[in-house]
Amino acid sequence: MIPLHLPQGYYTATGTVLLRRDSAKEGQSVLIFMRELGPRWVTAPRANAKNRFGGATEPLTWARYSLYQSPSRLYLQEAEVKEDFIPLRAAGSSLLCAARLYKLTAREAPAACENDVLLRALWNAMVQLRAGCPAYAVEFRFVWKFLNSMGLAPSYAICASCGARITGSAAAAKEGIFCASCAGEALPKMSAKELYELRAATGLPHDKFLIWSKGLEKSDNFNRNIKLLSSYFANMR
Ligand SMILES: [Zn+2]
Repeated sequence: MIPLHLPQGYYTATGTVLLRRDSAKEGQSVLIFMRELGPRWVTAPRANAKNRFGGATEPLTWARYSLYQSPSRLYLQEAEVKEDFIPLRAAGSSLLCAARLYKLTAREAPAACENDVLLRALWNAMVQLRAGCPAYAVEFRFVWKFLNSMGLAPSYAICASCGARITGSAAAAKEGIFCASCAGEALPKMSAKELYELRAATGLPHDKFLIWSKGLEKSDNFNRNIKLLSSYFANMR
């Protein structure tokens, strides 16, 4: 287990920049989400008024970072870019989606705490967006996986009210997904097909999701459920 405060010394880890803050005096502070180390604020000192790390401190970039932990701060020493997702930066809805996923991760992932499952889910989401998978399906899948990693994701297979396996249609409530007999009149309903799509989006392995999601027909189902899931983060606080 990696401690919250790293012992003084040198470290290397692969990961991605979630957030960047520029300061004229101190250079950049970057929130880097790294393997084994989790998300940590890292100071990237200026060199001759130029940013010597180039694109490696841009959000959405994945790199191998060399770090030095002083008694007070974690410093970035070197960065070797592994993947910059440049094609994604030119694609409007995919780029906006990636930015939302990064913002959510920066806000909700516990700082300085190993979270390799979530880091892997973020990488996969970026690969899916670059491959042209629909942004709404990628976002729904990622948000659900994020909640699931914390044990908070609602089940799309078991009724949150009576515990029965859901067959046929269902309804989304604040407490989770309800089967047809527990669903009240006012709840937004989901057809069996919509429910199946949500279950597939959460359960398919990455390589199968890449193919399956491209065949999805456009509907508001995913966006409605992204909103529903987003409220779980607020409830957590
Ligand atoms: Zn029920």
